[in-house]
Amino acid sequence: MKFIGKYLGIFLLFSGLWIEDAKSWGFFAHQQINKMAVFCLPVEMFGFYKTNIEYLSTHAVDPDKRRYLVPGEDIKHYIDIDHYERALPFDTLPSQYQEAIAKFSKDTLLSYGIVPWNIQWVLRKLSDAFARHEVDKVLKLSAELGHYVGDAHVPLHSTENYNGQLTGQHGIHGFFESRLPELFFDSYTFFVGKAIYLNNPLQSAWSAVSGSYYYVPLVFAAEKMVQKATPENQKYAYEQKNNMPIKVYSRKISNDYHAQLNGLVEQRMQASVLAVASFWYTAWVDAGQPDISNWQVNITPVFMEDSLQNSTEKKGLGREE
Ligand SMILES: [Zn+2]
Repeated sequence: MKFIGKYLGIFLLFSGLWIEDAKSWGFFAHQQINKMAVFCLPVEMFGFYKTNIEYLSTHAVDPDKRRYLVPGEDIKHYIDIDHYERALPFDTLPSQYQEAIAKFSKDTLLSYGIVPWNIQWVLRKLSDAFARHEVDKVLKLSAELGHYVGDAHVPLHSTENYNGQLTGQHGIHGFFESRLPELFFDSYTFFVGKAIYLNNPLQSAWSAVSGSYYYVPLVFAAEKMVQKATPENQKYAYEQKNNMPIKVYSRKISNDYHAQLNGLVEQRMQASVLAVASFWYTAWVDAGQPDISNWQVNITPVFMEDSLQNSTEKKGLGREE
């Protein structure tokens, strides 16, 4: 199946039917979220994070770059909560990892995604790095924690029907979280307030997921409506990206979808920004609020960057979007 998917992609590319592939929140949105989260930090953290804002933004997408290359990475980005129950899944699936394993088995959890627990684990690693004054690690983990927290705020990261494949709405994933933020970001505002300390970070991660899941019906209904209302020849357009013509959703259908969503993309991005800053802040407080004002970064911008950048081909390790 995955083998077929790869060659289907090549076929679609050359047949002109290719539509730009989706990465969680889209690279653009992830980078903006990490960047803006810096401005929500308290003064004790702001200087260090502001100095390294380009790093935090650039590396906001590292987890997606290795998503299809590193076994076990893919499931860290989502949770198909409706696999467990459609109506009230948050009562059905225990919020604690060990309890969830006891009830549904580890295999099941690993099959349907673990984003809330992964956020909890990365938060702990970040806090440990703060406590040990591991400057480079703090930066790397901050960038990546921002990514996973952002993903938890995307409605399509909370459902088995993550790309509309179960309802004939293939492509909705990238439409919602890549195309719309790229087109409408400039009209959004981000006065989201200051980072807050999270007394129960796991619960906060779950709140992000349940907030996302709440909007799943709207995300699908609105897309269905605009697809129906738009003539076939007005649905797509071609735009140049990296010197290649890429098939994208047209401005018209994007405008209509965005309007039907009634501010949802902006709202989920705003919530992501505040949450990312709050998770960073919580890690720092839990580490005893070390003085980071004079921390110097020695980081070499590697992290498999080169090899990953050159390899956009999926290796069949994650699900197709
Ligand atoms: Zn992701």
